[in-house]
Amino acid sequence: MLNAESMLLVHGRIFDGTDEEVIPDGAIWVEGEEIRRVGSMDQFDDVDESVPRIDLGGRFVMPGMTEAHSHLSYFNASSLQDLDMNCTAEATTIYAVENARTMLRCGYTSANSFGSLHAVDVAVRNAINSGVAPGPRYVACGRDVLGTGGMVDWNPDHLQLGMDGLALLADNPWEVRKVIRSVRKSGADTVKVYLDGEGMIESDLPGELSYTQEEADAAVDEGHRRSLRMLCHARSADAVIQAMKAGFDVIGHANYLNDEALERMREQRHRIFVSPAIHWQVGLYENGAQFGFSHDVLDSMGYKEEMVETIASVGKMKAAGIRVLPGGDFGLAWTPHGTYARDLQNFVEMFGYTPRETLVAATRDAGALVDFGGKVGTLEAGKFADIVVVDGDPLADITVMQDLDKITTVIKGGKIFHNTLPSGPRFDLGAKPGMSAGEKENVLASAQ
Ligand SMILES: [Zn+2]
Repeated sequence: MLNAESMLLVHGRIFDGTDEEVIPDGAIWVEGEEIRRVGSMDQFDDVDESVPRIDLGGRFVMPGMTEAHSHLSYFNASSLQDLDMNCTAEATTIYAVENARTMLRCGYTSANSFGSLHAVDVAVRNAINSGVAPGPRYVACGRDVLGTGGMVDWNPDHLQLGMDGLALLADNPWEVRKVIRSVRKSGADTVKVYLDGEGMIESDLPGELSYTQEEADAAVDEGHRRSLRMLCHARSADAVIQAMKAGFDVIGHANYLNDEALERMREQRHRIFVSPAIHWQVGLYENGAQFGFSHDVLDSMGYKEEMVETIASVGKMKAAGIRVLPGGDFGLAWTPHGTYARDLQNFVEMFGYTPRETLVAATRDAGALVDFGGKVGTLEAGKFADIVVVDGDPLADITVMQDLDKITTVIKGGKIFHNTLPSGPRFDLGAKPGMSAGEKENVLASAQ
């Protein structure tokens, strides 16, 4: 990677992540880790000749994206049970470091975790922040919090295994407070609480609330008092209502809504975010058969109906001005790491977002979720220089974001982590370690 004190990206077609018009021939002046100026080419005549230029050749340039529903510590496991049973904390951490690199390579310069195995998120976040490992700016989550028999409490009791790597089981308000205090101690930024279940978990289905309101209230009160952002898994209207009464900040899923759930979310729309993670269902239908989830099995679990309901719910949330964010629960075998931008396509094809609305959701709105001092999500003076160059037009065809050969440049905090453009220093973040010089040149050449 290169960290020029100052550099000028010239001749880009600039989409700044807001509702502003695209600048057809523009430049971005990066100084240190921040953007100093964004504008049309004629606004940069005063920049000193000594500032290095990278010629984007008219390519599309946009803010780095934020993956709003991430699980870097999930290792493309082929069954849910494997998450807890099939991998040590040490091995999980190694996979998570590799997943972080993959996510950055895909153009995601920030990510919001929606749950971690062990305390892997914290270790990975710290490694990224200290420059030990490349990856997105990462909001680290603790282990899942839920009551006995809640969604991810799936190991049979007679085996006496517990759920140690994945979940902290807590019943009654004071136990809930205690586990949230332990998450705070572990160094996580957020806590995820399961309020209801999931079609594939017979012992806790959507709509079956695993916590009382008193327990949910205690969770949020404790988390907010300890500076933790509070996330929840809430698929049903009843779970969403419980979440809004308690004051959760981020709602995962929100598949089934009734009038009360929608109205409570609308009232808090300036504060909350929703990540439907619809790629969970899409990935199951597309790839699940080889892992035991045939279409018949999935239909019987209610997932087809759930997708129909979710499309309707997202339409209502969008109309109500609620920020709905791409982020697809990637990290299981049917939602593999590296395919993150597929959820952008879901927003266009399933939810009826325009490509532009989808990109605004993935940049400005999701940037507001991860926050980082208000400095991510748009290309504006004073923001972090988190920048992606695309050899294509995602405003015309959102699927181009899934083609890694077209994601030519990834810059985070003014540092170039990946660049295969003819102009500027070349770095290949996707190259496997141990590649010979010749192999590396071939990879770079084929990407052009
Ligand atoms: Zn998830």
